[in-house]
Amino acid sequence: MKRLAVSACFAALLLASASPTFAQTALQTPPTPQPIPAVVDRAWSGVVRLDVDATDLNRRIYRVRETIPVEAAGPMTLFFPEWLPGNHGPVGPVTQLAGLTFSAGGQRIEWVRDALSPYAFHIVVPAGATELVAEFQHLSPTTGAQGRITMTAEMLNIQWEKMLLYPAGRFHRNITIQAGVTLPEGWEYGTALRPDSSTGATTTFQPVPLDVLVDSPMFAGDHYRQIDLDPGGRSPVLLNIVADAGENIAPTDEQIGILRTLVVQADRLFGTRQYDHYDFLVAMTERMGGIGLEHHRSSENSVDPGFFTDWDSKLGDRDLLAHEYTHSWDGKYRRPAGQDVANFNLPMQNELLWVYEGQTQFWGKVLAARSGLHSRQQALDALAMDAATYDNTVGREWRAMQDTVNDPIISQRRPIGWRSWQRSEDYYVEGQLIWLDADTLIREQTNGRKSLDDFARAFFGVQEGNYDANPYTFATVVETLSGVMEHDWATFLRSRLDGHGPGAPLDGLTRGGYRLVYTDTMSDYQKTLWAEYGRNDFIYSLGFMTGADNTLSSVQWNGPAFEQGLAIGMQIIAVNGEAASAATLRAAVTAAKGTDQKIDLIVRDGTRYRTVAFDYHDGLKYPHLERIEGAPDRLGDLFTARRR
Ligand SMILES: [Zn+2]
Repeated sequence: MKRLAVSACFAALLLASASPTFAQTALQTPPTPQPIPAVVDRAWSGVVRLDVDATDLNRRIYRVRETIPVEAAGPMTLFFPEWLPGNHGPVGPVTQLAGLTFSAGGQRIEWVRDALSPYAFHIVVPAGATELVAEFQHLSPTTGAQGRITMTAEMLNIQWEKMLLYPAGRFHRNITIQAGVTLPEGWEYGTALRPDSSTGATTTFQPVPLDVLVDSPMFAGDHYRQIDLDPGGRSPVLLNIVADAGENIAPTDEQIGILRTLVVQADRLFGTRQYDHYDFLVAMTERMGGIGLEHHRSSENSVDPGFFTDWDSKLGDRDLLAHEYTHSWDGKYRRPAGQDVANFNLPMQNELLWVYEGQTQFWGKVLAARSGLHSRQQALDALAMDAATYDNTVGREWRAMQDTVNDPIISQRRPIGWRSWQRSEDYYVEGQLIWLDADTLIREQTNGRKSLDDFARAFFGVQEGNYDANPYTFATVVETLSGVMEHDWATFLRSRLDGHGPGAPLDGLTRGGYRLVYTDTMSDYQKTLWAEYGRNDFIYSLGFMTGADNTLSSVQWNGPAFEQGLAIGMQIIAVNGEAASAATLRAAVTAAKGTDQKIDLIVRDGTRYRTVAFDYHDGLKYPHLERIEGAPDRLGDLFTARRR
C-alpha cells in the first residue's frame, strides 16, 4: 500500500516534466527501485537457519550468520522487520544492523537498499545458487542515548526480529526458521522456544514459523533462576529471572505465593489458557534497558533490582507482570484485525488499542489487586492517581482519546513538553477508566449478577491451549458486550472514545462507590512511588512537578505555573527568598493557604533569571478516592480475589 501511494506520486512528477511549462526545469524521473514482491500466502521452501553468537560481552556485539534457501536465481528482496508487534509502530532498529554481506557458494553478492523502503535490501541471486548466506552484526546500544541496551556484562536480551532478515513477498508464518544461539560460558536462559539440541554453549531450537520466533525472545544471564509458578498445573508456567547481582534473586515464599496466585486468578478470570506453555522473562536490572513487552507464550519484563528484596519501597513495577500476562489473552490471542498483518513490513492499524492496551491496563490492575501484588488500599490509591491525571488532561479539548492510538507511530515515546495538552498513548489509562465505567454499569444494571469478568471469559477464554491469533473488530467487541448485557454499547464506547470532556470518564468511580477528592497529604502509595521516581509533586497546586535540582519535569497546561510562563527544563532557585527544595516549596504552599500572601520564586531559564509570584492560596493537593457513604462498594467487589 505504501509503495502504491508513492508510485502515484512519481506518475504526477512524470506528467509535470512532460508539460511544456516545466520543460526548462529538467525534472528527472527518479530511478525505479527494484520492485518489492507482493505478499502471497505460500510456504517459503526450505528452512532458514539463524545462528547468533552472543559471546562478545565486552563490545556488546551480536554476530549473526543466516542461511536462507532461495527459490530462484535473479532479483530477490530481503526485509529487516520494521513494524514490531507490541510496539505498535515502525520502530525496527535498522541502524543497529551493520557489516552486512551476502554470499552464495562462497561468492559475494552486492546488495542495494530500496530507495523508498529503507528496510528492504535488494540482491540478485546468481544462477545455480540454492541458498544464500547473510552475515552481519546486531550492535547493542552501549549507552541509553543510542537506544535500549540489550547486552551487559551480566545479562542479555535477544529479540530475534532485531537480528534477522527474511524474504519479502510472503506471510511471516510461511517462513520456517530454526534459530541457534551461542551464549557466554556458564550462562543460563529463559525463552518460550524449546531446544532441539545443544553442544557446549550453543543451543539450537526447534524450527518454528517466523512469527513465532519473533514472538519468543530470550533473556540469558550469569545470574539466573527458574521458578515454577504452577507446579503440577495443566500447562507449564515458568518464571525465569536474570539479575545484575545474584543476591537480587531472593523472592520470599510469600512473594512466590503472590505470583502463583496471579496465575490462579487469571485462570479464574479468563477460564482458559490460550497457550501451551508460558515463560515470564524477568530482568532485575538497572544496567540493561527497561522493557515491558508482551508475547503470546512469554513476556519480557524489567524490574528494579530491589523488586523482591526491597518489596515495600519498590512499587513502580509491581503490576508489570500482571499486565504483560494479561496480554497473552488480550492483544496476542484476541488481536485487533488491524494488528494482524501478514508480515513485519506492512503497516499496522492501531484503532483498537484501547481494547488491546486499555483493557489490559484494566485487568492488569485488577489482577494485581486480586493476587495480592497490590493491597486493596494501594489499588484504590493507584486508581485515584490515574483518575486525577486524566481528569486534568486538558488536551482532550482538541484531541479525542481515540486519536492517541497514533502516538506509537507519530511520537514513538520521545519526550514531549506538554503532556497534559499534547496527550500521549492515553488509550492505556483512559482506556482503563472506560472499562471501569463499563464494568460498574454492568454490575449496577444486573444487580451484581454480571460484570466485565463475564466479557473477559466470553471474549478471551475461547479454547484451551489454542494460540492462533483470533482477530476482532469494533463490532465484535460491541456484540460480545451485548451478549453480557443488552445496552447501546456502540454509543457508550464511541461517546467516550471520541468525546471532548470536560474531564475524564469517571462514572466508573461514582458507580463503584467512590469519589475523587484532593487533600493536602499524599497517600502512602503515592509517597512511595514518587520517592522511587524522584518526583516532587505540585501538579494540582502550583501546576508543576520537579525532579533533581528543583528542575521542572512537568508543567500542567493552563495551570498556575503555565500562567507564570514556566516550562519544562527551567530550574527553581529560590522560594520566598530561601534556597529552593521540595521542602521549602511545600512549606511555602502550606503557609500561603487561605492568606493573601503570594509565593515568590526565582526561576532560572538557561542564563536568564526571573522572579515569579504565584497568587495561589488553596494549599497542597493530592488525589484520593473517598467512599460515598451508603453506595455499594463495587470497586471493592472488583478488586476481591475470585474464589472460583
Ligand atoms: Zn501492554
